[in-house]
Amino acid sequence: MPRPLLIRHARLADGRSDIDWLALDGRVAALGPGLAAPPEAEVIDAAGWLLAPPFVDAHFHLDATLSLGLPRLNQSGTLLEGIRLWGELKPQLTEEAVAERAMAYCDWAVARGLRAIRSHVDVCDERLLAVRALLEVKRRVAPYLNLQLVAFPQDGLLRSAGAEANLLRALDLGVDVVGGIPHHERTMAEGTESVRRLAEIAAERGLMLDLHCDETDDPASRHVEALALHTHRLGLQGRATGSHLTSMHSMDNAYAAKLIALMAESGVNAIANPLINITLQGRYDSYPKRRGMTRVPELMDAGVTVAFGHDCVMDPWYALGSADMLEVAGMGLHVAQMTSLEGQRRCFDAVTVNPAQVLGLDGYGLEPGCRADAVLLQAHTPAEAIRLRATRLAVVCGGVVLARSAPQQVALALPGRPPSVDFTRHPPGSAPHPPR
Ligand SMILES: [Zn+2]
Repeated sequence: MPRPLLIRHARLADGRSDIDWLALDGRVAALGPGLAAPPEAEVIDAAGWLLAPPFVDAHFHLDATLSLGLPRLNQSGTLLEGIRLWGELKPQLTEEAVAERAMAYCDWAVARGLRAIRSHVDVCDERLLAVRALLEVKRRVAPYLNLQLVAFPQDGLLRSAGAEANLLRALDLGVDVVGGIPHHERTMAEGTESVRRLAEIAAERGLMLDLHCDETDDPASRHVEALALHTHRLGLQGRATGSHLTSMHSMDNAYAAKLIALMAESGVNAIANPLINITLQGRYDSYPKRRGMTRVPELMDAGVTVAFGHDCVMDPWYALGSADMLEVAGMGLHVAQMTSLEGQRRCFDAVTVNPAQVLGLDGYGLEPGCRADAVLLQAHTPAEAIRLRATRLAVVCGGVVLARSAPQQVALALPGRPPSVDFTRHPPGSAPHPPR
């Protein structure tokens, strides 16, 4: 059993300050002011910084991550060239190389305060090489990272020969969630048929469903409607998710209003991938260029659970990224214009509590009885954490500190000015949340 861990003088996302958090035997034992330290406890002084539950990434591709430049770079920047490029790389993959890149990314993720990742894994490969590699990675990282795998027929369930058989084999091997890509099937009708089939597989096996859905600027791409229908029909409420949903950005407002109400009624979750949607979508536009992200605040207002995912880091679709869910939240905030204090707070929820709900994580949160997982951020509020991409001062998993970073402070040599800069300090009256 680990030593007890007491984090003192923390601030919480709900505004409470000078709060202590005690972890015993991997669980949260107490949360409140002035807790006594048990004998042998490790004590961390949070010094008023923000203690939050850990980050959760609701949508990622761990089989492709860190493969940037293999075998070449994406010249057009489009989703379709990315899919072609991945198809060129697939025959060259080895299980060892996929696992090594995925393990390296998991190190980054832990350093950034991530506790869980839902990763799609391509099953359009007779060898199921990436599936085997990521199942091994899932086993290796299990003590510190909850890796939930989605069987993802990248080239289409109906369009790619053998895809359904491979998907079922992947599920038999232990992949957790049923995936799909209806907008990449040959026709709208086949896309709709793939949604029906995949929803039935999820229902038959008692699994969750998460489809890449309508990742296009074509407003006529309406597969999420079928996803909502079959979620309702098969009783998959809360367990079915539409990822990307970018066509909703370009839909007629009257249809979108009906669709959003249908999604709320059906209990379909939504995942936006702001960094990827803002770079992949709108590529066929001249000017004005559409943003291509789904209707995040409108979905939230309707009661749909909306999470943000990172989607890609240094792969055929996206050359940037560093496992930083605060960067994801910051991009989502900008693209959706969620700049109010409430909007900023909701963007923080979209990389913490909302994805935890989408993944169905047990014991998530800072309250007593929850798993003792937390991240201490060098910020006072969720909004400040997003603004600064706050340093993760400590990352705690099961009551054990797995990663630490020194507080960021910049030494300054300016005549007549302070000797250092701390970006959380600003003159009184310049921000709604005064520094300590
Ligand atoms: Zn994706």
